[in-house]
Order: sequence, then C-alpha cells, then structure tokens
Amino acid sequence: MEFIPGHLPPSVVTQTPRWFIFRDNKILVNQATDTTVTPYITDLEKFGLHPLRQQFFGFLDGTPCYTTELSDGNNAPEALVFHELRGLLGVIDDELFAVAGYANQIMQWNQTHQYCGRCGNPTRDKQDERAKICLSCGLINYPRVTPAIIVAVVRDDTILLARSTRFRSGFYSVLAGFVEPGENLEDCVKREIREEVGIVVKKIRYFGSQPWPFPNSLMVAFTAEYRGGEMSVDASEIIDAGWFSSRHLPQIPGKQTIARQLIDWFVTNHTNS
Ligand SMILES: [Zn+2]
Repeated sequence: MEFIPGHLPPSVVTQTPRWFIFRDNKILVNQATDTTVTPYITDLEKFGLHPLRQQFFGFLDGTPCYTTELSDGNNAPEALVFHELRGLLGVIDDELFAVAGYANQIMQWNQTHQYCGRCGNPTRDKQDERAKICLSCGLINYPRVTPAIIVAVVRDDTILLARSTRFRSGFYSVLAGFVEPGENLEDCVKREIREEVGIVVKKIRYFGSQPWPFPNSLMVAFTAEYRGGEMSVDASEIIDAGWFSSRHLPQIPGKQTIARQLIDWFVTNHTNS
C-alpha cells in the first residue's frame, strides 16, 4: 500500500475516487464482514450521500482520495455503519488506519477553518500548498498538529506506569502530556514527570514518534532514567502509579500504540527482574 499526500486534486478524472466520510467524529465503514472493514466508499451517488464539503488529500495506490463530512441528520446507508475511528486501530491495516487518521485531521481542519480567526471573513484553499488564506486580511492557516511527549521512565529493572483518570479501569501506561508553547521536548518530559508523579529524570533519549489523530496529536516518545524524588501522584490526572518489573506488568495498551512499543522496549531490555 502506497499513500502519497497531496492538496491539488487531479485535473483529469480517470478513476473513481475513494471517499473517507465522517459524521460526529465517526467514520463511515463498510462492515460487510467482521474481518473486512473498509473505511471508505467509492460510490457516493449510489448511497445517496450529499457531503457538506470535501478536501482532496492524496493518492492511495494511485487512486485519488477525498475526505468529507455529513451533517448530523444523515443516517448511515444500508450495509454501512458509522464507527469510532479509534476503534479501527488494530482492526484495519496499520497503513490504511494512518490514511484514515490523516483524512480525519484534514476534514476537521477544513471544518474549523472556513472563516478567518482574525477578521471573521471567509477563507479559501491556497493553490500552492495545504493551507487556507483569508480573502480579506490574508491570514494563512495550516492544518494543526499538536505535539505531545510520551516517556518510559526506568528505575533499575522497573518501569514507571500509571493509571490515568482518562483510562478505562485497570489500564496502566507510560506517562504523556502536551508540549507547552516555548518549551522544548526534553523540558516537557521533565515537567510532565515532575507534575504528574513528583520525580526527577535524567538521560532523556528520543525513541520514536506516532501520529495520533484524535484529533491532531503527534506523540513524540522518549526513554528516561529515574534520577531522584519520592513518588507523589497528582490525583487530578492519575489514579495510581508505580514501578513495575517486566514479569509483573499490569494491563497495558494495545500493540498498535507507541506506548506499547515503549513498554515492549523495556521488557526486551529488562528481562532479568
Ligand atoms: Zn482575515
């Protein structure tokens, strides 16, 4: 599967495009069987769908792709269903999920930037890049990406895991938080760990990254080592936190998440405890 992002639709239409369709933050899927879920349709008119607005966003295996939204009153046509995008993670192919996530981000950006945030006049799509420009004052807006850090803190042969007030019960993960304006990623790691569990870390190292399109985060993952301090949990964000050995892990996130990749990295490198 090859996806090539783009902002200019093909001038000559030779292929039936793929439509990624959203309503109420859910995506329309063809759930013909439990094992084959397709997050796009190719025949808008057959299903009688009339999208509010659309954005071309690239080519998937050479086929043009559009992202669009339906107004709240539109029900799913027969044999189709609106599905939580997040619930497709690990259900559909990872690369196809990434394309659907990108479609969601472009759709939401298009929806929320129809008017200028500075002067309130209508915007239009720029032709030379993925951006919107105000017809009146010239303000340019790009799709929003919100960086967040996620970090595996290791102390001897244990890893710091916490149960967030946002998680379903029983579920533990590594700590994460949004980057503040003016802050670099390493400072963000230090601040989040200090604020959420009251400890100090050292040896912060980049691990990897993952787009997290709910709705527009980029998770930037790090590993770090415990340096000092007593565990003191911020009860507004965390129900419980502790140090876990690789042989006694609690319930942890699914394989498609970078949180899980961090925990798997820890397990691979700390199997003696
Ligand atoms: Zn303006």
